[in-house]
Amino acid sequence: MSKYVYMFGGGTADGDGTMKDTLGGKGSGLAEMSRAGVPVPPGFTIITDVCNIFFDNEKKVPAEVDQQIWEALEKLEKLAGKKLGDASDPLLLSVRSGAKFSMPGMMNTILNLGLNDETVEGLVAKTGNPRFAYDCYRRFIQMFGEVALGIDMVLFDEAFDARKHKIKAKLDTDLTADDLKAIIGEFKKIVKKVTKKDFPQDTREQLLLSRNAVFMSWWAPKASYYRKMEKISDRLGTACNIQTMVFGNMGETSCTGVGFTRDPGSGEKIFYGEFLVNAQGEDVVAGIRTPQPISELEAWNAGVYQQLRSITGNLEKHYKDMQDFEFTVQEGTLYMLQTRNGKRTGPAAVKVAVDMVEEKLIDEKTAVGRVAPAQLDQLLHPVFDVASLRKLTKLATGIDASPGAAVGRLAFTSEDAVTMSENGPVVLIRKETTPDDIHGMDASKGILTAVGGKSSHAAVVARGMGVPCVVGCGAVHINERAKTATVKTGDKTLTIKEGDWVSINGTTGDVYLGQAQTTDPDPHSPVFAKFMGMADKFRGDFGVRANADIPRDAKAARAFGAEGIGLCRTEHMFFAEDRLPHVQAMILSETEKDRRKALAKLLPMQRKDFAGLFEAMDGYPVVIRTLDPPLHEFVPKREELMVDLAKLPNADIKAKKEMVARYKNFGAEVKNLKTLIPDLLKRVEGLHEFNPMLGHRGCRLGITYPEITEMQARAIFEAVVQVAKKGKKVIPEVMIPLIGSVQELEHQKAIVKRVADEVLEKAGMKSQKYLIGTMIEIPRAALLAAQVAREAEFFSFGTNDLTQTTMGLSRDDYTKFSKDYEEKKIFKADPFGVLDQEGVGMLIEWAVKNGRQTRPDLEVGICGEHGGEPSSVMFCYRVGMDYVSCSPYRVPIARLAAAQAAISGDKSEAMRTA
Ligand code: PEP
Ligand code: MG
Repeated sequence: MSKYVYMFGGGTADGDGTMKDTLGGKGSGLAEMSRAGVPVPPGFTIITDVCNIFFDNEKKVPAEVDQQIWEALEKLEKLAGKKLGDASDPLLLSVRSGAKFSMPGMMNTILNLGLNDETVEGLVAKTGNPRFAYDCYRRFIQMFGEVALGIDMVLFDEAFDARKHKIKAKLDTDLTADDLKAIIGEFKKIVKKVTKKDFPQDTREQLLLSRNAVFMSWWAPKASYYRKMEKISDRLGTACNIQTMVFGNMGETSCTGVGFTRDPGSGEKIFYGEFLVNAQGEDVVAGIRTPQPISELEAWNAGVYQQLRSITGNLEKHYKDMQDFEFTVQEGTLYMLQTRNGKRTGPAAVKVAVDMVEEKLIDEKTAVGRVAPAQLDQLLHPVFDVASLRKLTKLATGIDASPGAAVGRLAFTSEDAVTMSENGPVVLIRKETTPDDIHGMDASKGILTAVGGKSSHAAVVARGMGVPCVVGCGAVHINERAKTATVKTGDKTLTIKEGDWVSINGTTGDVYLGQAQTTDPDPHSPVFAKFMGMADKFRGDFGVRANADIPRDAKAARAFGAEGIGLCRTEHMFFAEDRLPHVQAMILSETEKDRRKALAKLLPMQRKDFAGLFEAMDGYPVVIRTLDPPLHEFVPKREELMVDLAKLPNADIKAKKEMVARYKNFGAEVKNLKTLIPDLLKRVEGLHEFNPMLGHRGCRLGITYPEITEMQARAIFEAVVQVAKKGKKVIPEVMIPLIGSVQELEHQKAIVKRVADEVLEKAGMKSQKYLIGTMIEIPRAALLAAQVAREAEFFSFGTNDLTQTTMGLSRDDYTKFSKDYEEKKIFKADPFGVLDQEGVGMLIEWAVKNGRQTRPDLEVGICGEHGGEPSSVMFCYRVGMDYVSCSPYRVPIARLAAAQAAISGDKSEAMRTA
């Protein structure tokens, strides 16, 4: 018979820490702690499979599962020395979810299970504390009512508040035992009214209903959303942990708390966390009361503090990772409720990994695997420019919960945050966040809350998302309905409202009114450098280059560790203000002679740009692509010309002057508009294409106008000569875009080669090496890679276009229906962000293999957007590419993804260049 239920507690457990798939993260942690002799309240775990069985079986479980539950309960009752439903000394239980991966606050929990009208009296007698007992019972009815019976929480809140109002109580603690008893009566009436049944008095029935409610919460909308966001499979299911209750709310010698063995924000090795005296677990995480820092625990109870430090220190050594733990002290006795590897920010992940290597707790390979490549993004985030901050009004300082600088307009609800984010950056402001705010938090650049500590929901979730966050900002009083907040600053009270710009610093907790400037991050911090150094050791000779078009970006790329430029889009140089008139003149030339004249003006400018790139990349390869986009992109829009032509007869002088300004590059004057606009329109119409992406672009331009390729080749090689003569090493690689046949490449290569050899020979530099290669952006080029490689000395996969052409999916129009495609799971992800390994990847693999068959030393890389996306980088490594190329800020992410791919060891060695 299958085993569905696993016991833990009393110094032993059926399961262990390796069984996350079966027991979930929480369950396996409890089992492992029990085995290690850590004081854990005993209990049992219903395995994750049962959750799947439940949903596959019309929300029922087989009798044998229930049977195992009752057997486990019996054992638990023996261990605890109490019985569920015993009217004189009742066993009380907590029922909690716990999936393989932590999903903080996304699923349901029920506490104080086992209370009913009789057992509550037993608890009164046993504790001698009627207020405590009735408070537990009312909390249980409320939680059970909401979670297991689906009753709107507001009904309970209203009844609770009505009682408070009646006796003029300010705090919950002002309510007496009799008040709570009365509230229990009200709550039971609510249950009866809504469910048409009495609140269940049968404690076993309570248990089974609670279990089902935990399973049901696997499919709660917020949990599904969280799984989608974190890419957690729907099929994993959640376990259900049933555990003896311990109480942190039994008076001043009881408390509850959460903590980390290191600072999850910075990674510093400090004991980190907070606790609340006389409180129940959920109070800390929910951020309803602001807790005390854990450093004050020692003064409260030195023995407990020492024991907690020793247990958590040992847990960290045992798991060889930073632990995130929950504990409760019941009347002076410490219990550990949970331990797991702690979620952390990118900076903390890097710091903890580097420190743990130095502490000899883990080796370098493990350390490199500990940081998710995307987490590095947080180290590469901009920070506030100090000078621009000085001009803003500082509103308040809250608690620094998730580092980084965020600037945005205030949104007071999650729904508003989502809508407003379509028109610009948003900072979500809430009294506190709850798991229902997940979509708003996801849409926001920053999060600000008025209450709660570093472990509050807002703090935990924002850190996981890498979103800057300030919590516990007590100076801010929010009126959610009016969408305003008042802030006391000194003797003034300011009102801020929806849409106001704020700048928040999640690293310091400071909040400013206004829009601060941000500055770029420092890629040279010693810890970061050390970590990247470790990663690079594993990456071997797999290169990471950057896509950069101007020397400034090239320098930034070098600082981030780029080993060359994998793509310089030369047309970006054409758009510069001083060049555009010459580019336009070149495009609108009617004869080759005129075109050459305009090109001659562009030549020195391009040469200067190329020289700048070669200098910045001193000794590293620079891939320069010849002109790629359709020419109409550089000239006025056809529609705009048509409108102006129609308006011209009735245009006043102001309108005419605006037209002159628009067409000044074409020699417009007020008096010649009448002839110039129709003439321009005619020429622009000559360039019009129905489908420019598949039209006259890429190498097709160079074939029609060979003089463009010729000018670009001349500019490249004259720059090579110039920089090489300064004593610098230059490695130029000229890349022809968008070929579909080897003949196209042959044609363009001949031009580049002729010019290159001529320039180099004239400069006495015949031995200067250079490569001529091509982009693979069209399926035909990939299919015929064996032929193409006869001419190409390198391939660079332009996966933006290759995705577009392989999938027949416009890269510019996909976003219009992407939501449907991704929500309906037709696409796993945006194929323009994450490489479609199955389809496009098949072409890539084919092309690499066939290209190398013709030319074994063929250099192969990628320069589409996917070159900086971790899973795509891993794919590129696996198929044997020599390098990836991505935007400068993504270079460290690509370096780490490549290192992790190398560590996972599934590189097809045979396919790599010798
Ligand atoms: C590509 O198509 O992947 C590419 C890098 O070129 P572009 O984005 O300039 O078309
Ligand atoms: Mg392209």
